[in-house]
Amino acid sequence: MITKDIQLPVKKNEKGMVANVLEQFNKAADHINLNPNIRRILNVTNNEIIIHFPVKMDNGDVEIFTGYRVQHNNALGPYKGGLRYHETVDIDAAKALAMWMTWKTSLAGLPYGGAKGGIQINPKLYSQSELERITRRFTYALGDNIGPEHDIPAPDVNTNAQTMAWIADTYMSTKGPSERSTYQHVVTGKPVGSGGIEGRDRSTGYGVFLTIKLWAEKRNVNLKGKTFIVQGFGNVGYWASHFMEQEGAILVGVQDAFSSIYKSEGIEVKQLQAYVTNNEGSIKNFANSEAIEKEEFFALACDIIIPAALGNQITEHNAASIKANLIAEGANGPTNVEGEAILLANGIEIIPDILCNSGGVIGSYFEWLQNRNGELWHMDEVILKLEKVLKESFNKVYDYSISEGVDMRTAAFSIAIQRIEKAYIQRGIFP
Ligand code: GLU
Repeated sequence: MITKDIQLPVKKNEKGMVANVLEQFNKAADHINLNPNIRRILNVTNNEIIIHFPVKMDNGDVEIFTGYRVQHNNALGPYKGGLRYHETVDIDAAKALAMWMTWKTSLAGLPYGGAKGGIQINPKLYSQSELERITRRFTYALGDNIGPEHDIPAPDVNTNAQTMAWIADTYMSTKGPSERSTYQHVVTGKPVGSGGIEGRDRSTGYGVFLTIKLWAEKRNVNLKGKTFIVQGFGNVGYWASHFMEQEGAILVGVQDAFSSIYKSEGIEVKQLQAYVTNNEGSIKNFANSEAIEKEEFFALACDIIIPAALGNQITEHNAASIKANLIAEGANGPTNVEGEAILLANGIEIIPDILCNSGGVIGSYFEWLQNRNGELWHMDEVILKLEKVLKESFNKVYDYSISEGVDMRTAAFSIAIQRIEKAYIQRGIFP
């Protein structure tokens, strides 16, 4: 049992995540010879909101929490991006993650900008009713810094449909009765019964799988019998594993915050999911597999690695030991610039985060449209539309990387930045 006094050790990136995303950005900006004025604009985040707010705990004491929302850029439309509840949430992380959202939404061709935020908290230390009050109070404190046509949060690490339902309800309750329902699309990723769209739950993981499948088709690789490992067995890790397994691939290793497990004959996804649900969300002590050292995880013999947890996991410290041929980035920023250089030098390909995990925000866009238009979309429609958008994005990135002779991340960034550059050039700078 974790207590509030014994916090989990948090590994900080020495360099900082902003420095990392800016190196990725500048590499692509150099490649496309980005207009220097637009480079200046995109190098900074538009708004950075930090809120300290009090919440009454179950025992009657008051605790102070720190919440963040960083809005990077809105040249293409309202700010969009998740809210995460994790101890690593700070201003540096929120800024970097907001920037990745701008590139992600632009690459997918969505009418959105980029934002990210969250609360610096280990949610496992709080009861459900405490988490509800923390979420509602944070939403209230954010006030009109979020809004359905201004900045639209969504689930991220340790937040889910329930969190979104609380945010939507709190936000809508601050509006007059006659207009309340017009604000339902203030967040996406809501439960299906409360304005959510069918399929949003699996859209990120499905997208991760689909980009792997599209990569495999280009490379003439059959996924049947291929082995893969997954870091993080939350929403993204689970659904990506599920679809990979359906395709005939074999899950041989999983790592979460508490444990790392390996089984060369394969771990059954459904069985692990059932175990995790009854084990406080962790894979720890899952029978029928071998527990391995944390440091050995990425070096496991496998064909594909899906990092689907936090940023800065594949670095100069472990990249050289990786044996897989492909890294599919389900998480945001899991590979740092130094780690990537080693992977590329070793001929390991990377499907970059802003493409690989973009199924989530594409699903969010469909939910937003559904609410805005008073429609109800069905699962098959959602999946079909998601496939169409993702295929288009994937092909654009892949073709660009071949024709320009650059890695897939630089290709994805180049396409994303060019779309924003075009919008700025058409409009000019106010006043
Ligand atoms: N948190 C997800 C991401 O990083 C989803 C964001 C959204 O749907 O707005 O892409």
